[in-house]
Amino acid sequence: METLGSLSGKRVVVRCDLNVPLKDGVITDDGRVRASLPTLNALINQGARVVVISHLGRPKGSPDSQYSLAPVAQRLSELLGSPVTFAADTVGHAASNAVAGLQDGQIAVLENLRFNVGETSKDEAERREFAAKLAEFGDAFVSDGFGVVHRKQASVYELPQLLPSAAGTLIESELTVLDRLTENPQRPYAVVLGGSKVSDKLGVIEHLLPRVDSLLIGGGMLFTFLAAQGYSVGSSLLESDQIDTVKSYLAEAADRGVEIVLPTDVVVASAFSADAEHEVRPIDSIEDTSFGASGLGLDIGPQTADDFARRIAASTTVFWNGPMGVFELAPFAAGTKAVAEALTRVTGLSVVGGGDSAAAVRALGFADDQFGHISTGGGASLEFLEGTKLPGLEVLGWQQ
Ligand code: ADP
Ligand code: MG
Repeated sequence: METLGSLSGKRVVVRCDLNVPLKDGVITDDGRVRASLPTLNALINQGARVVVISHLGRPKGSPDSQYSLAPVAQRLSELLGSPVTFAADTVGHAASNAVAGLQDGQIAVLENLRFNVGETSKDEAERREFAAKLAEFGDAFVSDGFGVVHRKQASVYELPQLLPSAAGTLIESELTVLDRLTENPQRPYAVVLGGSKVSDKLGVIEHLLPRVDSLLIGGGMLFTFLAAQGYSVGSSLLESDQIDTVKSYLAEAADRGVEIVLPTDVVVASAFSADAEHEVRPIDSIEDTSFGASGLGLDIGPQTADDFARRIAASTTVFWNGPMGVFELAPFAAGTKAVAEALTRVTGLSVVGGGDSAAAVRALGFADDQFGHISTGGGASLEFLEGTKLPGLEVLGWQQ
């Protein structure tokens, strides 16, 4: 941020990633709010007038109260120990008034960026138009939403082209750790993938294969792998149109001598709920329960959890993104817990990346300092690791 010169008295728009998990309007993990504090405190201490912008969840381009940033602004105020103004719109009258009312060293949070179609529009002109409105609120821009730097969105990619811009300290510290995973990682190097954004994450596998010694697959994507091997997966998460791609990954891994480690057992449930009936099944008989083809695989099984844990603890460098199962429901949290516990035993560098993965380790009772690093970005760290140029970093002139 030094490149921006003195920011005293200047209005600085800061793109944070305050996309926290909420349950009934209450924040269940405030890790991303805490991670935004160093940059915000630095700006406040310089006497800047700070305008925080962020998204939360995936609203469809118009206001949707369940995705309001109001509870986040409140939490931010508690953590900063000073008042935070909240504007009930993003680029309307409320936002203009909030920004105009800022004194030096004060902070305002504007309502969810994604309540506006321009933020995530595929149409560049529409994104530019929205970015131009945001740019009116600042004399400078600081990009600190690490979790979104892989997205070509108005506040990430177009806005920095309209104002003097720099990366914030969160982005800097995230990149310092990720560099250690890309430049000569100590081997053996294992990557553990899970979660629910199946097609997003399948794509990174091809690029990771040449870099790692083993890839452990859990979470929702494991069922596309099992299907690619000819197993029936009931009503589990499955992307049938990706089966051929997955087959090619398996073949490529075999050629390269990289191990793709798949589960040998899974927890199959009658429904997606905490009180659903459930059973551990070997992968070749997922549909052989009383729920038949309607059974849902919601976690890796205990045998798989043991195997993954052993392989993780025996690695020197481990990157993990994506819960192994639906950890939010207690009966399906064991796989995620076993993997988290194994990561705490890694003697080299262990990194947990992803909003839900970070929330999971904290919800399961682990402390942040039991891991080498907890990254605020899942998709962003994966794309960085695979060597993709990230639009939000490129636009800042960041060399990768
Ligand atoms: P991250 O935010 O860490 O990148 P994702 O957003 O990709 O992770 O995925 C997190 C979600 O994946 C969690 O809400 C979890 O419930 C879900 N999930 C994990 N395993 C499964 C599964 N087998 N079926 C359905 N959802 C799953
Ligand atoms: Mg997520």
